[in-house]
Amino acid sequence: MKMHTDNDQQTIQYDYIGIGLGPFNLGFACMAAPLDDLKGRIFEQANAFCWHPGMLIEGATLQNPFLGDLVSMADPTSPFTYLNFCKQKGRLYQLYIRENFYLGRADFNEYCQWVIQQLDNIDFGHKVMDIRYEEEEGLYRVSGVRTNSHGQQETFCVLTKKLLIGVGSHPQFPSSIADKAQILAHQPNTSLIHSGQYLKHKKPLQECKEITVIGSGQSGAEIFYDLLTSSKDHDYKLNWVTRPARYFQMETAKFALEILTPDYAEYFFGLNEDVKTDILKDHQHLYKGINQKLINDIYDALDENHRYQHCQAQLLPCMEIVDIHFDTQSQQYHLHFKHTQTHVEYLHKTDAVIFATGYKPVLPDFIGGIRDRLQWHEDGSYLPNRNWSVDKNKREVFIQNAGLKGHGITNPDLGMACYRNSRIIFAMTGIDHYPAEASTSFQQYQPHANSGFEEISEATQEQTQAATHSPSYIKREAYA
Ligand SMILES: Cc1cc2nc3c(=O)[nH]c(=O)nc-3n(C[C@H](O)[C@H](O)[C@H](O)COP(=O)(O)OP(=O)(O)OC[C@H]3O[C@@H](n4cnc5c(N)ncnc54)[C@H](O)[C@@H]3O)c2cc1C
Repeated sequence: MKMHTDNDQQTIQYDYIGIGLGPFNLGFACMAAPLDDLKGRIFEQANAFCWHPGMLIEGATLQNPFLGDLVSMADPTSPFTYLNFCKQKGRLYQLYIRENFYLGRADFNEYCQWVIQQLDNIDFGHKVMDIRYEEEEGLYRVSGVRTNSHGQQETFCVLTKKLLIGVGSHPQFPSSIADKAQILAHQPNTSLIHSGQYLKHKKPLQECKEITVIGSGQSGAEIFYDLLTSSKDHDYKLNWVTRPARYFQMETAKFALEILTPDYAEYFFGLNEDVKTDILKDHQHLYKGINQKLINDIYDALDENHRYQHCQAQLLPCMEIVDIHFDTQSQQYHLHFKHTQTHVEYLHKTDAVIFATGYKPVLPDFIGGIRDRLQWHEDGSYLPNRNWSVDKNKREVFIQNAGLKGHGITNPDLGMACYRNSRIIFAMTGIDHYPAEASTSFQQYQPHANSGFEEISEATQEQTQAATHSPSYIKREAYA
């Protein structure tokens, strides 16, 4: 860490600056903390860590086993493992006896907060507003606004060799009605919300006569279950509407889970765009459905509800929303649906709408200042390199969780964050501080050199850009 004199002000120079403190950059902060050749800070605009607070529903769990914590898959000896958290909190025996691999979401949040207390490379209340590249110094100038110890706003500015952007994603509404839904969601006292705001609005929503949940992923299922099981104390009708032809389970068979391994991420990266697009459609069942336990719980609750008539609840698959408006006279939302198989159109009037329709990657405004140094897809999204950098020099600006096009569905997955952070640290320092396993999957996504399957034709453009390399070869060449 060095000091630069700049217009009579001292500007600190770091090896890296991380922007945004979600689980991905928090894992990086843990892994960078013990390294002498990687000194930097993570700037977070919020004043404290709270992981998706609108969805910290009681009983909701992570979709990954606890070993997919912030550090274990890269360094199980780290002091920041979930197991050490349990030990320090006196909960290890309960974990051992309970044999519950899936952490409660609130538990994961508490674990992250415990980790943060022990790190000294995180600055809360720091919103990054601008980034410029200083040609002469070969450094990035990161500036923004922070809240000082007196609660006042002041500007800050630092220099850094590398950037790690982890600003998360934004709520997504169905494309057919996205603009209208955005406007309605921002009206005062609105009863139309995105799932990310659920807990904040839960009480007033429960006063409504009729509530409609749209979307049948994990979030939609958690909200429907929460409203169904708490309906006894209220008097609402509940609709759960979705576009897919049925409410389906997130696939968790062991060979399916091998898709969420470093071997698969490396293989997927090398494929050409059209092949990737087809594969991603096929992978929807790996990350878009509902976990099996919750499906069972919902079914049981529906059966009980049916018997004891707590509330009127109905499930409607095959329904695609095509239009929406708010009727000021009846104070109701009018939702226009089209059945995806019969093509019959329907009008549905309801008092409250919850869109559990996912999230989309976000391009922060501050990226504008360094746009020319980065690589871009035709559609305006980042074009990542194999090592998760997106700059033309392939080693300066790294992005966490930048959509699915680069490394597929491994990108938003908590269990893969350790691997990505270990590769980013390798690319930033040139030293493999957290070596990855030579092989992580029984399935060979392209036959290995000694597999007894000899290549007798060239890889075509349609097949793969990296077909002649074995996975271990790719790893060494790409990061050294
Ligand atoms: C409800 C929910 C549950 C999920 N559960 C799982 C799961 O069980 N397993 C799994 O694999 N994945 C899960 N995911 C997906 C994914 O792992 C999470 O969304 C995860 O939080 C993504 O982490 P992140 O670090 O990319 O961003 P985020 O957690 O979204 O954090 C980004 C941070 O950046 C900050 N920020 C933004 N702009 C700036 C700026 N200009 N300056 C400073 N700070 C800024 C924000 O304030 C925010 O704190 C879940 C997602 C949701 C929504």
